[in-house]
Amino acid sequence: MNQKPTNRCSSLPILERCLGMTGAPIRIGTASEIADVGTDVHTFGASLARDGQAEYEGNDAEMGFLTGQLRRAWEGRFKDEFPNPQVEKYLEADLPQFILSGHPDCYSVQGTHAAILDWKSGHNTDADVRGQLLGYAYLVMEAHPAVAEVDLYAVWLREANITHWPFTRAQVIEWIRGVNRRVARWDGTSFTAGPHCQYCPRFHDCPARTMRAHSAIRDLAAFDPAGMDRAELAARIPAFHEGVKMIEKQCEAYRAWVKQDLRENGPLGDGETELCLYNQRDTTIDPQIAWPILQDALRKKLPDEDSVRDTMSGFIKFQKGKIMEAITELSAAREKGKDKKMLMLQLEEAGALTVTHTQVLQTRKVKHDDPDTHADTPG
Ligand code: SF4
Repeated sequence: MNQKPTNRCSSLPILERCLGMTGAPIRIGTASEIADVGTDVHTFGASLARDGQAEYEGNDAEMGFLTGQLRRAWEGRFKDEFPNPQVEKYLEADLPQFILSGHPDCYSVQGTHAAILDWKSGHNTDADVRGQLLGYAYLVMEAHPAVAEVDLYAVWLREANITHWPFTRAQVIEWIRGVNRRVARWDGTSFTAGPHCQYCPRFHDCPARTMRAHSAIRDLAAFDPAGMDRAELAARIPAFHEGVKMIEKQCEAYRAWVKQDLRENGPLGDGETELCLYNQRDTTIDPQIAWPILQDALRKKLPDEDSVRDTMSGFIKFQKGKIMEAITELSAAREKGKDKKMLMLQLEEAGALTVTHTQVLQTRKVKHDDPDTHADTPG
């Protein structure tokens, strides 16, 4: 029986930072299950690449945006580079120190060349995905011994940005040997805790991460910005913020776990108070059925049709992603981009568009030039 640990490609960037995660059990952690949007986007991408078609039927604006971006990137940039796409195919390779496994989102092999693509629904900030894609490259090269060169693509859907790395077989093999050598030399007790812990499969059972969480909770409880000047805040906040994010992730994981437990086993309580699930009622209105009913109701109350139309427009919110998808469906193959641009132009000229900006907190790495890396924009 093979006693080697198994490491997934998606964990390789963490393994490069902390050898303590090696051999972490493969399981979907509660916190990973929270990333529903990412999972749904990947399901959409898999259908589009495998079947040539995919539809997002829901009403979630974020999903509408991300699936629209994915469709544009696939149809405008990648489709032709991935003939016979292999979608989420399980691959595995036996290395001296561990088993490497992974499901590349999409890859394609033509003769001595392979192309591998990974959809990213998060922000292209501090995430280091090069190791993950190099792991996929190794797995694809193991499965296809004729492959001598590979192009790796991380597609950042939110920013409409692509990171591209070209590698040769020799470079990929040299890289995986380096990882394997480092794992072989690990002393079994040294951990490197940091922001990467939030993505680690050992998040819930790692002693180093637990100590870091205790210290982050203590720091948060004692946090007093009024007692610090700007220079002190600048020196402290980036690391402090990472600690707060880790606590938030732990809280999310707890909420997901407790909901699941209550769903399966019923309320939890000490006899005096109990925690239970409450069914909150949300109502949605079908616009097609509601439209004439609302119109009739308003006509009885308002003096003219203009007033009815103005009042009704206050109820309605169009989803840009859904509109663009409908235009894509209705347009001829070569007219899709032109038709969408024309529609947006008409809407803009008519004053129908309002652009709003939402400020979100973002931790980012200062990027240094990497001659092997370049980014471009999907078509
Ligand atoms: S949780 Fe952090 S410190 Fe622990 S093994 Fe994972 S990366 Fe290393």
